[in-house]
Amino acid sequence: MGLLSLGTPLDWHESKKYNEHVRNNGITQLINIFKQHSNRDNDEFLWGDEVEYMLVDLDRQHHSAKLAIDKDYVLNDLNDETKSLLKARKYNVSFHPEYGRYMLEGTPLRPYNGEKLEDYIYVEENMIKRRKLSSEELPSNVKPLTLTSFPRMGCPNFTSPQANPIGPASQSLFLPDEIINRHARFPTLTANIRKRKGHKVAINLPIYPDKNTKLLDDSIPHNRHLFKSDKEPFLGASKPGYVYMDSMGFGMGSSCLQITMQAKNIREARYLYDSLIPIAPIMLSLSAAAPIFKGYLVDQDVRWNVICGAVDDRTFIEKGEDPYRGYHLFGGLDIDGNKDLNINKHGVNEYGDLNDLYTKDGKPIQHIPKSRYGSVDNYLGDGEYDTKYFKEEYSDLNAPINKKVYDRLLNENSGLFDKYLATHFAHLFIRDPLVIFGERIHQDNKLSNDHFENIQSTNWQTIRFKPPALYEQTAANSEIDFTDKPGWRVEFRPMEIQITDFENAAYSTFMSLLSKAILRFKPNFYVPLSKVDLDMDLAHHLDSAIKEKFWFKSLDSWELDYHDFIGYDFSWFDRFLSEGNDTLSSKGAVYLNGYNSSSSLAGLNGEANIGGSQPYSMNGGTNGGMNGSMNGSMNGSIAKPTKGCTGKILEEINDVDDNGLDQRYTLNELINGGDGKFLGLIRIVIKFIATELIPPDCQHCQDVKCASNLVRLKYYLMLISQRASGEIPTAAHWIRNRVLNNPLYQHDSKVSDEINFQLINDIDRLTNLQDRDLVMDFFGETIGEYILGGNK
Ligand code: ADP
Ligand code: MG
Ligand code: MG
Ligand code: MG
Repeated sequence: MGLLSLGTPLDWHESKKYNEHVRNNGITQLINIFKQHSNRDNDEFLWGDEVEYMLVDLDRQHHSAKLAIDKDYVLNDLNDETKSLLKARKYNVSFHPEYGRYMLEGTPLRPYNGEKLEDYIYVEENMIKRRKLSSEELPSNVKPLTLTSFPRMGCPNFTSPQANPIGPASQSLFLPDEIINRHARFPTLTANIRKRKGHKVAINLPIYPDKNTKLLDDSIPHNRHLFKSDKEPFLGASKPGYVYMDSMGFGMGSSCLQITMQAKNIREARYLYDSLIPIAPIMLSLSAAAPIFKGYLVDQDVRWNVICGAVDDRTFIEKGEDPYRGYHLFGGLDIDGNKDLNINKHGVNEYGDLNDLYTKDGKPIQHIPKSRYGSVDNYLGDGEYDTKYFKEEYSDLNAPINKKVYDRLLNENSGLFDKYLATHFAHLFIRDPLVIFGERIHQDNKLSNDHFENIQSTNWQTIRFKPPALYEQTAANSEIDFTDKPGWRVEFRPMEIQITDFENAAYSTFMSLLSKAILRFKPNFYVPLSKVDLDMDLAHHLDSAIKEKFWFKSLDSWELDYHDFIGYDFSWFDRFLSEGNDTLSSKGAVYLNGYNSSSSLAGLNGEANIGGSQPYSMNGGTNGGMNGSMNGSMNGSIAKPTKGCTGKILEEINDVDDNGLDQRYTLNELINGGDGKFLGLIRIVIKFIATELIPPDCQHCQDVKCASNLVRLKYYLMLISQRASGEIPTAAHWIRNRVLNNPLYQHDSKVSDEINFQLINDIDRLTNLQDRDLVMDFFGETIGEYILGGNK
């Protein structure tokens, strides 16, 4: 979330008059950005993370854990020079507002340097300082926890202090408006989504089926008559067998982990953006941390579709749905004239426009398949980069575009935008602005980005292409000094927030190193976007990290020569750290993938669990106790690496696309690779570390600091590796299991106040690495011992 504009946010019915104005000027601003920055080059690879915290009032005496909605002064203090801002600056941390009044977002004050080994480790130190500093500002009972979803959000009395769900902004039956950030932007955003849509958002999550579960959300009040919308659940908004949620807060009030990276120039940024698109569902699955919503265990593991639904401002006609009885097909749109409102009479043209239907300002009304929060709809193309892998058929979603914007970008500005860039932005600009500030309607398009950012920043896709800002040019032909001014950036947004700083650092570092490695080795990861969307669905499934297979570019079509990566597995770290032992003596030597059992190094590989021990839900060990329905769907073949990329095996599992270029893989295969030609993502990262990141004066790491940094990197990668192989659980699995194994749990899928307290209390203890048993249970022994021993 960027800086908040000050001023008066307009109500939807007022603001919609300016929709075209914002879009027209936003595109002018975008064109000006491109004029100023298209040729910008040689920016450094800087990167930064964003961590979202929930402030939880943990009362150990009375066994309650609630979201603290009266501690938001902390955010002001942390940004106030007379209070804690100086301390924040000293720590190199910065805090930002988030949707929830109980939320804080923390980032490094200055981005990290992607060329420096030590910065990939420093990220954890920076995260620890953020948690420490925010804790110091809070009373001791209020904890800044990194929970993706608060388990009892929307249940009776889930806030501290208590607040009632009677607020006019959300009109929610479950969430009080007092959970929403006090800044007027946020309640207006909440109300405007509802007003544009013409009804409340409706999110339905399948209830996790346990032996005593009644497949019925019995928390929906039948007899409230406060708002017209109170009856929506009974008009079709709530589905039987599902947990029903009716407000933006259920999604935007959850927390995630984001990484922003700066590319050298726009060409590199486009290739990186495209390459990360198929990685998004994989990292969503590996970071899964949200198995409980509104007091119910749900039959999925992640938050993603909850947010998609929570900010879905589409009207019935845009979704292609019949309206609820007594509701308007066009929601809060101003329709032009007295059109025939029979949907079936209006075909859809190639841009997604419904024929002959316009809003009063002349914008076509469209059929829109996805919420403005969703997976990426168009590749940007790498035709101007070295790789040139992109083919038009990969962007196969036929996402609607704003044709007027498309034409302007292509025709008015020959050369600045090619058709793929034009399509990308023309798709973002199908959306209406959600909040317009009265004081900011008229802007200087040569200096301001606000209208562009208004649309850009409310298109919440898995990856965001962030152009630079506009800077003042003092004289017409003067050069702008771009030093310290952000350039072309790519933001990776799908990951769920992890419980501990160690994990958040590991996931952040893995993603930034993977991005660096992608730019260095230039693999081809393009698959059709329709497959990425299938993967996004799969990533929601229970334990998808070990139970599902994901579409990905066939492992022998990555355009990488596997010979180049021989030896760059986990054993590389140990070889490098043992002086003089990091070079391969000959082809096929003992170091080949670290597997060779005759090698004295073979044991090292066991740590990465490639072909090692069984996944957690098969071994019935410390993480066992899974109920029948979870075990029942385990497929024994899934977590095992295959014997290589032979057509035969792949045919047997029938997971190859017709063209042979895309296949379905387990995450173990994708992350850890297999033998021989079967590269995995981790090996590419390790080779990058080995060949690009070690400082020249760090030969064999006699320098103790460098050695300990490398060891820490190894454990970060091991966390990712072991979650992919199933040796250790995802946070979602672990949280679900703690509920299922709690003696108070009634096997009815409900998470009571007391279970919620115990869970949050455990999570707090785990966050602070206070409890050895919890750490071992969560991280497994290898990583657990390292963390407890190494994290002083
Ligand atoms: P948003 O919420 O719009 O994504 P934030 O400002 O909250 O933006 O976070 C942006 C992230 O980008 C932070 O982690 C920050 O450290 C990082 N960052 C800042 N400048 C750069 C840069 N030039 N290159 C890469 N990352 C940057
Ligand atoms: Mg945020
Ligand atoms: Mg932010
Ligand atoms: Mg962000």
